[in-house]
Amino acid sequence: MSPTHDVIVIGLGGMGSAAAHHLSARGARVLGLEKFGPVHNRGSSHGGSRITRQSYFEDPAYVPLLLRSYELYARLERDTGREIATLCGGVMVGRPESRAVSGSLLSARQWDLPHEMLDAPEIRRRFPTLNPRDDEVALYEARAGLVRPENTVAAHLQLATQQGADLHFEEPMTRWEPYRDGVRVHTAEDTYTARRLVICPGAWAPQLLTDIGVPFTIERQVMYWFRPAGGERPFLPQHHPIYIWEDADDVQVYGFPAIDGPDLGAKVAFFRKGTPCTPETIERTVHEHEVAAMAEHMSRHIPSLPGQFLKAATCMYSNTPDEHFVIARHPAHPGSVTVAAGFSGHGFKFVPVVGEIVADLALDGATEHPIELFDPGRLAAAPA
Ligand SMILES: Cc1cc2nc3c(=O)[nH]c(=O)nc-3n(C[C@H](O)[C@H](O)[C@H](O)COP(=O)(O)OP(=O)(O)OC[C@H]3O[C@@H](n4cnc5c(N)ncnc54)[C@H](O)[C@@H]3O)c2cc1C
Repeated sequence: MSPTHDVIVIGLGGMGSAAAHHLSARGARVLGLEKFGPVHNRGSSHGGSRITRQSYFEDPAYVPLLLRSYELYARLERDTGREIATLCGGVMVGRPESRAVSGSLLSARQWDLPHEMLDAPEIRRRFPTLNPRDDEVALYEARAGLVRPENTVAAHLQLATQQGADLHFEEPMTRWEPYRDGVRVHTAEDTYTARRLVICPGAWAPQLLTDIGVPFTIERQVMYWFRPAGGERPFLPQHHPIYIWEDADDVQVYGFPAIDGPDLGAKVAFFRKGTPCTPETIERTVHEHEVAAMAEHMSRHIPSLPGQFLKAATCMYSNTPDEHFVIARHPAHPGSVTVAAGFSGHGFKFVPVVGEIVADLALDGATEHPIELFDPGRLAAAPA
């Protein structure tokens, strides 16, 4: 019996929806299985905004992928007519030796990316809401900004459906096994077969990817929305950049302009300062002491931001030990299974290019994109 599909994609969140689009665009018969409904808020791809930038402090190796991701995001907007990216500019602020500043500068110089270095008086002049200390500087990148996660996922699901992908929601995979020269996938409803399997599990990586040698840790993260004292006007995207602000103790906070207009506030969050959790046990309530800690933190950097607390929401990071992604053919099933996981709190800006890479790996067994950094073999336990 021939398989029911060419490729089955598990998880239709950020990465899986992009994979379903790129696979179906190439003519593959795709089945997508998702545990929840379309564009839900129980994983890692919700909350209205995600930072995007090119002068990447995490590692210059990400830059070529970002350049491609920018192209694909623009194409996604054109093809679906949805509002996705707002390139309002961005500042990476900290002392010159901070990772946010020095790492961004390294990438900008290595890849010849347009950028400006601003000293503290210049930061205050250009962006009057920001209150740097005298020893802080910023790398300003005009092409930084934000993308909207819900619109991105919806756009990819829309295109995949138009291209004939069969997307099943509220139908989680319960297990899978190798079958003939492909795979067999089980759900409570049915059993499916395919030549290839793509697993994009988000925070469910510890359950779904037990055998690739990567110790994923899942972290609860909180996003906060504040109505600035004096109102949103100075925070509108035509006046206000996205920012990542690193303190001397390595704590990074990041935030956005007021993208939803008057009365809906501006979002701010800590980058990696979460608490360990699982998707089943995550504490969804955000407590007053958490809000107070964020308001206190921001009163130093952007004094007018924490005027009135509006709301908060939780989200999960799926971290690898070195905070680099895992995108590869499955080490134990390289011919049939591709995995994309461990995005460690910085994956969304890469969503379209990850979809393209996963389609390359699943259909061709290889990609021309530079993904050496994402090989799970780097994290395999060293022999005793
Ligand atoms: C608060 C917060 C802020 C962030 N900020 C940024 C940022 O500014 N910039 C940036 O680039 N990145 C950012 N990120 C990271 C980025 O959002 C994530 O890396 C990205 O969304 C991960 O996408 P994913 O597809 O791996 O996970 P998800 O979108 O969660 O998708 C995984 C999917 O798998 C499904 N699933 C699980 N188990 C099964 C099963 N058995 N069967 C079927 N389906 C299953 C889940 O329901 C889910 O839909 C942030 C993340 C958070 C939480």
